[in-house]
Amino acid sequence: MDPRAEDRMKFLLSLRTRGIRDLRVLRALELVPRERFVDPEYDDLAFADQALPIECGQTISQPLVVAFMSEALLVEPGHKVLEIGTGSGYQAAILAHLADRVVTVERYRTLADQAADRLRLLGLEQVKVIVGDGMLGAPEEAPFDRVLVTAAAAEVPQALLDQLKEGGYLIAPIGPPGGVQMLTRIRKKSGAEFDREDLMAVRFVPLLPGKATAS
Ligand code: SAH
Repeated sequence: MDPRAEDRMKFLLSLRTRGIRDLRVLRALELVPRERFVDPEYDDLAFADQALPIECGQTISQPLVVAFMSEALLVEPGHKVLEIGTGSGYQAAILAHLADRVVTVERYRTLADQAADRLRLLGLEQVKVIVGDGMLGAPEEAPFDRVLVTAAAAEVPQALLDQLKEGGYLIAPIGPPGGVQMLTRIRKKSGAEFDREDLMAVRFVPLLPGKATAS
């Protein structure tokens, strides 16, 4: 018996009612136990449609936004996806059900380790969690069919555009960190040609500059 079966059903129904249509995305949302990615003190809010605090002053994103981004990214089986901002690992787990491989980068080791443990316990071995500066992407794993940035920046870091395959899509919240950003979908038409499309207004925690290194 799944003790959260009713929560899970209402959760899926509310995402469907609010416009999520892609059956693969809905299936992924059904399969990933969100309650395992939420801090125990917020357990009763695990299925509420809101962002919740996690360690290191960060947040697990609002379910509707996770669902919306997962749908808009147009992920296909066989794809290799890069996520910037692992946080709890929830979004990476959803992507793992849509793509063949997911590489996710997090600047806080505490969060990266916790996320990696959760993903391993769920048997999601197709996800690789890297501790590092997401502004640099993951050059050793590039190129990627899709890139999803889950932290806000005024502009998309160039390295992420460089690591995207031609014809590939990148989604990122672009705008003032600390304010409202525009979730933007960018398609790489060729090496230096991009199409941009506004998707929806969102609020994400900031994409922070990488840690200073001793030179
Ligand atoms: N996708 C996450 C939520 C992301 S919150 C989830 O599903 O839970 C944004 C995350 O981006 C935070 O964990 C934050 O630590 C991380 N972050 C911020 N700046 C970063 C950077 N430069 N490189 C990598 N991660 C970064």
